[in-house]
Amino acid sequence: MSTEKNADPLEIVAALEKVLDREKTPIPLHEPRFAGNEWNYVRDCLDTNFVSSVGKYVDEFEEKLAEFTGVRRAVAVVNGTAALYLCLKLAGVTSGDEVLVPALTFVATSNAVCYCGAVPHFVDSDLATLGIDPKKLETYLAKITEWKDGFPCNQATGRPIRAVVAMHTFGHPVDLDPLLEVCRKYRLELIEDAAESLGSYYKNIHTGNFGKLASLSFNGNKIVTTGGGGAILTNDEELARQAKHISTTARMTHQWDFIHDCVGYNFRMPNINAALGCAQLEQLNGFLKSKRALAEKYRQAFAPLSGIAFFREPSYAKSNYWLNTLILDKGDTEMRDSIISETNRRGMLTRPAWVLMNRLPMFQSCPHMDLSAAEDLEQRIINIPSSARLGEEL
Ligand SMILES: *Cc1c(COP(=O)(O)O)cnc(C)c1O
Repeated sequence: MSTEKNADPLEIVAALEKVLDREKTPIPLHEPRFAGNEWNYVRDCLDTNFVSSVGKYVDEFEEKLAEFTGVRRAVAVVNGTAALYLCLKLAGVTSGDEVLVPALTFVATSNAVCYCGAVPHFVDSDLATLGIDPKKLETYLAKITEWKDGFPCNQATGRPIRAVVAMHTFGHPVDLDPLLEVCRKYRLELIEDAAESLGSYYKNIHTGNFGKLASLSFNGNKIVTTGGGGAILTNDEELARQAKHISTTARMTHQWDFIHDCVGYNFRMPNINAALGCAQLEQLNGFLKSKRALAEKYRQAFAPLSGIAFFREPSYAKSNYWLNTLILDKGDTEMRDSIISETNRRGMLTRPAWVLMNRLPMFQSCPHMDLSAAEDLEQRIINIPSSARLGEEL
């Protein structure tokens, strides 16, 4: 019989206190850091009146993003959800399609699918990566797919299965090579929801380079923030041109006439937000370094504990460690919640993973595969304070 010890909330509190400075409580889960040129660039916007839809910072931000991630083009937009919506639309997702998305994700991933009039179809996670499990997906697709005119359909619903969204959970890259193989085999478009993975690499290539298009988020809790913001990444010049065009009201170039050639969107990122973004990108390498130092410190602090483990990047990846993660050995919601309440009570903000998408009222009737790994992770994940600042002096 196993005499394995359960996780002990007080031991976990002590391990966190070893790493974190208790003087500075409450310690948020993830706070932004403005230690560079933020004031200068934002002041420049105010001084020159270029705060809105015109100005140099948007172009500069897009160029710097493309340079950092190694993609051909980046298009800055109002937020990550809008970015993902446009990625799906530009990849050809349309009304009546199904799109494969992880059940374990933030709600925006599924919402963006619905904005296209498509239906999210939930897939299971891999315990080793926290992202889509490509093997399990392949086995599932082999079972449920019916080919119509050379394209895969869900035989239960008759709807075409158009695309897969790979979301790099807490910054840890999905195992993309086998997933790309599944995409080739089933003629699916790959879109990356890279909202959490700016600064994360799969086999030395930055995330966002693998899908047809990818989305980033610069919300206040992400590794780099523009207040609110997002971006579309793509290596396809023509798709980048279309992304820019439809996110800026589809206006044709003309000195004064307002001519628009399709129903476009007002999704452009304002110059003042891009100014913040430029200043933030200058510090990204520093943030990444601090976050890795913090993750290493956590790894050491939690190594001796039983019943719980610090989640480490998959072997093929270099992760940004956006949100540090503890995984309980056993799925035990009561234990998870008592750890979360004990740490929060002491000013160290922690939280569980998202409620699985298939449990949310608006998605309950959407198709899904067996979700046993995602259900298991839902009970076992605890996110712990992860701001770059916390790793700065380590
Ligand atoms: C943050 C996030 C988004 C999009 O966020 P916005 O708040 O719209 O910028 C999308 N997907 C995931 C997984 C996220 O974490």
